Amino acid sequence: MDSISDQLKGWKDGAFQKRLQKKEAELLASERIQKLINDDSIITEEIVKKHLNEFDQYNKERNHCDHCPGLEDCPNMMQGYQPVVSSDFGDIRIGYQPCVLKRQDDQKHQQQNMIKSLYIPKEIVEATFSNVDEDDTSKLRAKAKALEFAHTADPGNDGQGLYFYGKFGVGKTYMMGAIANLLAERDIETMLVYTPDFFREIKQGISDGSYQEKLEAVKSVPVLILDDIGAENLSSWLRDEVLGSLLQYRMMEKLPTLFTSNYDFDELEAHLMYTQKGNVERVEELKAKRIMERIRYNHEPIYLNGENRRKNN
Ligand code: ADP
Ligand code: MG
Repeated sequence: MDSISDQLKGWKDGAFQKRLQKKEAELLASERIQKLINDDSIITEEIVKKHLNEFDQYNKERNHCDHCPGLEDCPNMMQGYQPVVSSDFGDIRIGYQPCVLKRQDDQKHQQQNMIKSLYIPKEIVEATFSNVDEDDTSKLRAKAKALEFAHTADPGNDGQGLYFYGKFGVGKTYMMGAIANLLAERDIETMLVYTPDFFREIKQGISDGSYQEKLEAVKSVPVLILDDIGAENLSSWLRDEVLGSLLQYRMMEKLPTLFTSNYDFDELEAHLMYTQKGNVERVEELKAKRIMERIRYNHEPIYLNGENRRKNN
């Protein structure tokens, strides 16, 4: 007679066997596994039984994909990856490949690496042309110009840029964000810079010598967006040595610069005339004209009007 432990073992084995058979039957009956067996000449019922755990895992994870809760909540073992069965030379293997959502997400991150921004809010960095509103005819025209630029820009060969001006809150910076995103799709690197903060940082960098490096990076980027030019506090050094030499370099190298401003060209020229050193204000018409020449040279001023989207803030 069997000992109690043998009986117990036999009973356990039996229960285990039953569970195994049940799992096997369920798996073999599933539509997905049936399709695999029908479509792949190498995969047979025997093979599925032999690699039961792998096929079970495959089936479970594919079921998750059928009811995909989104990339962030992906319940699969490796987030954003789906199992695939391969049967190379009779060797059955379950591998993993990124799903469509994961691939799109990777691509988006790769594109965002093409956009460098200094002091620009996230919503602007994510702007798209399809979201640009068309509440005013001036915006339609600006949008057409922006699209043309984004589709045809050729840094290094064509230095033609854009100058968007108009009242606060009409969407000038937003439109620039949409340009940067379209350029990223074309693998063209863009830097969006909020001019007042950038100048402030350059000024602070004089003491530790870091300004050279910062200036170099901005100077030579394929497409530079100087956002809100005219809102900065200028010293004659910032105007002539920083802004002046930056624009000179970009003009010579045919690197496009895009501007947004509350000022039209004449108003910007007037702003550039006045510089401050300590309490002394200086007026230098000629130096302002010199900078403006570089801006007027290959930028058509484009006026934007419309609702102030920030009025409720
Ligand atoms: P401006 O640069 O002309 O002062 P912004 O581009 O900063 O104006 O736009 C003002 C606000 O409205 C910002 O918060 C911006 O994100 C938002 N905004 C502008 N245009 C759109 C748009 N088409 N869709 C969504 N938000 C927008
Ligand atoms: Mg702005």
